[in-house]
Amino acid sequence: MFSKILIANRGEIACRIVRTARRMGIATVTVYSDADRDAMHVAVADEAYRIGPPSARDSYLNVESIVAAAKRAGAEAIHPGYGFLSENAAFADACAAAGLVFIGPPASAIRAMGGKSEAKALMDKAGIPLVPGYHGVDQSPHILAEQAELIGYPVLIKASAGGGGRGMKVAAQASEFASQLASAKREAASSFGDDRVLIEKYLEHPRHVEIQVFADSHANCVYLFERDCSIQRRHQKVIEEAPAPNFSPDMRERMGRAAVEAARAIGYVGAGTIEFLYDAAAGQFYFMEMNTRLQVEHPVTEMITGLDLVEWQLRVAAGETLPLSQNDLTISGHAIEARLYAEDPGRGFLPQTGRLTHLAFPSGENVRVDTGVRAGDSISVYYDPMIAKLIAWGPDRDAAIHRFGVALAETRVGGLKTNIGFLARLANHAAFKAADLDTRFIERHNDDLLKRPLPASDAAFALAALGLLLARTEEAHRAARASSDPSSPWAHSNGWRLDDEARDELRLREVSVENAEEKKIDVVYRRGGGWRIALGNGSAFDAQGEIAADGELTGTIGDEKVSAVWKSAGNEITLFTKTESRRFAIVDRLQGADAAQVSGGSLVAPMPGRVISLLVEPGTHVEANQPVVVLEAMKMEHTLRAPSQGTVVAFRYAAGEQVDEGAELVDFRADGN
Ligand code: ADP
Repeated sequence: MFSKILIANRGEIACRIVRTARRMGIATVTVYSDADRDAMHVAVADEAYRIGPPSARDSYLNVESIVAAAKRAGAEAIHPGYGFLSENAAFADACAAAGLVFIGPPASAIRAMGGKSEAKALMDKAGIPLVPGYHGVDQSPHILAEQAELIGYPVLIKASAGGGGRGMKVAAQASEFASQLASAKREAASSFGDDRVLIEKYLEHPRHVEIQVFADSHANCVYLFERDCSIQRRHQKVIEEAPAPNFSPDMRERMGRAAVEAARAIGYVGAGTIEFLYDAAAGQFYFMEMNTRLQVEHPVTEMITGLDLVEWQLRVAAGETLPLSQNDLTISGHAIEARLYAEDPGRGFLPQTGRLTHLAFPSGENVRVDTGVRAGDSISVYYDPMIAKLIAWGPDRDAAIHRFGVALAETRVGGLKTNIGFLARLANHAAFKAADLDTRFIERHNDDLLKRPLPASDAAFALAALGLLLARTEEAHRAARASSDPSSPWAHSNGWRLDDEARDELRLREVSVENAEEKKIDVVYRRGGGWRIALGNGSAFDAQGEIAADGELTGTIGDEKVSAVWKSAGNEITLFTKTESRRFAIVDRLQGADAAQVSGGSLVAPMPGRVISLLVEPGTHVEANQPVVVLEAMKMEHTLRAPSQGTVVAFRYAAGEQVDEGAELVDFRADGN
């Protein structure tokens, strides 16, 4: 076995590989770009080396730099994870040339499966069923149109070099073939630098079922059963499960054997996945492609087999035989995985970037979380915005779905929008529970899944306000304890405990809801303890409680006993209750608070981006919260607002200029300063 390996990846998969290597007594080396200097995958490894600037092309795709790091560290092998260089045959060659073991298949197998057309031709020869289609060399438009006619509409036009669902277009009938062909070719050329296409029969309601295979260098090859990845959005997987629901043992064996045949046909070694389209009604399956690496969704296979696929990869790469034979392999229970993303389902699933101000994952039996970030880390523009993979296991599918739902409810992310709500609606959907699956599931149920969140209830506003009041009180007490004259009544006072009932006002605006109104909240401090919180629409609550340093809030609102986690960062509050998470901006803090300190920094770029417009003239006097600059980052516009009343003295960047995260965009002078 190896004594030291380098992991040429980042995020959750790098951390996951470190875990297994460590358990096996193998030292780990990770690599990082400048954006990842403080990343979790760097912290958990035994050693780490810088490989370049943030952009993936200069770092995680930089073959020379990675090989040099491996040599320098004295690693014997490189694990590429998934993505990045994992299916890059030239990288496998470069490892070999440097005397390093590439923990993956032979470069020849990567090449054989690299092009969709070539792979299909090979599989056809090996007798693996293909979707009826054309994957020939002749790309003249009239030949392609003729072939489409022969196949029969609807047809799917796919980029030969494709991946990630790009360069894929459906032509429903002959009249739209030419335009869809042109569009697929354009996308293929711009995404892959190669505009060759293939044409397939477009299956209307297929399921995506894939087989995990494993081969060693001693001619053994087994299948570790299937995963159903039919829950997709734009041909990209959202939820994966194993085993596939309503899948007969006979079909499992047929598909499994076909997958092993496919792997053998190309002299495969290591972990691989053969993807099939499965037409359940017709009882037919068709080869789609082979991924010559570990898949994102491998944990569901691990959960139902009790195996560690990374351990198998390491053993096979070190020349050992497969730990188990086909007859030793069995399925136990059911597992479901979802990819938790920093993205905004309400805005076309736009990736979100910024700091994770709070992060808590479920724990306990039958749930697994694979992540590469911690609270306080940032999701940057440079890489995939995945926060974690959430995997739940149960003795059967219903139990697994239930466990998954509970795990999702216990997952708390502060600071960024996520797809948690979307995933919860998916897992809760009657059609999903009934396993009525196919690759158009999300498209079909879009309206149910994308329901806009209702604005926060009055009780939620009251709870957010109560947390703020309690946190302020705590702060005042801390300050009093630290003050030079602790006996001074002023030190003990939090500003409201004067003789009479003291009044105050605060304003909260929900940020998780588009264009939310700002809510004015009147607060009266009660001499007996607690507050009366009035929301301006006639609803008012007596509220009191306690808040712990970690944000655990308990108390009563009206007659209701409440508990929640209340967090604040800058001028934003995140409230996590048992059923939901809500974010609020503090528009105006309680009297006496230092407004500049509270919300200062809001004219700082929250992420790298481009200034797109300056909304006021230099020298303008602005109100607190008035929009001042618009920044564009990750295809999204962010409006930055004045932290308080004051003057915009000057802009430090012109419209069109690129700015780094943390850049001060404006010379701002708060009134009174
Ligand atoms: P990519 O490599 O871009 O991910 P794939 O060939 O793996 O593309 O296909 C991705 C997804 O596209 C499949 O999971 C399925 O949802 C859909 N798809 C692919 N081929 C067909 C087809 N012939 N008919 C219907 N859907 C298809």
